[in-house]
Amino acid sequence: MMQYKRILLKLSGESLMGAQGHGIDSGRLNDYAEQITDLVKNGVQVAIVIGGGNIFRGLSGAAAGFDRYKGDQMGMLATVINSLALASALDGMGTRARVMTAIRMEPVGELYAQPKAIDALNNGEVVIVSGGTGNPYFTTDTASALRGIELKADVMLKGTRVDGVYTADPEKDPSATKFDTITFDEIYNKGLKVMDLTATTMCKENNLPVMVFNMDEKGNLLKVMSGDNIGTLVK
Ligand code: UDP
Repeated sequence: MMQYKRILLKLSGESLMGAQGHGIDSGRLNDYAEQITDLVKNGVQVAIVIGGGNIFRGLSGAAAGFDRYKGDQMGMLATVINSLALASALDGMGTRARVMTAIRMEPVGELYAQPKAIDALNNGEVVIVSGGTGNPYFTTDTASALRGIELKADVMLKGTRVDGVYTADPEKDPSATKFDTITFDEIYNKGLKVMDLTATTMCKENNLPVMVFNMDEKGNLLKVMSGDNIGTLVK
């Protein structure tokens, strides 16, 4: 039994690099597409926002001397590249996927509009909403919060490389323990890094719960949707 009917899945661009350390790893890409296909087969409506960190980040670009505004636009275009790659992998498996873009660039993708996206979701298509929010100085976490709220998703599933929210960074502090559930207020008060604060605040103010889980382990997406206690629910 699936816990949620309509989800906003946030995928990290950085994870798409897989072990190769740059670009798009086709093994990782196909693994994601398979996990998403499993949900579609179970009748789940899936909207996706994918990051661009494997290709370009505006902030690191600015540190290297790029103009921040243009660098952020480069980052947003990077998310479009990743979105096309994921749509291609899904299509290859017979899972219908549609790329929408926050910035007009037909025929690469159709311009995002909430009613169109909801229609496609109701038709059983995977909708990949690319190009972030279309604005610099935002992140794809904020784009996920925004699209999740607009598309009336039941939850934002934030696929990461760690299996949830910990008391401290588990890669630095071996005594760190994982929360099964945590509130948005605790995230602020304890200064935990789950998402940027803009995204966190949007989710809190609009009652969009966020499930943080390890997407890089095969089958985890279906497990989370089946109610297995493998991530952290923020609400
Ligand atoms: N970005 C932006 N506006 C948005 C979303 C993303 O300017 O609404 C840019 C920003 O430069 C960011 C890059 O796109 O660094 C890639 O997105 P993000 O860092 O969130 O990707 P991830 O870390 O999840 O791979």
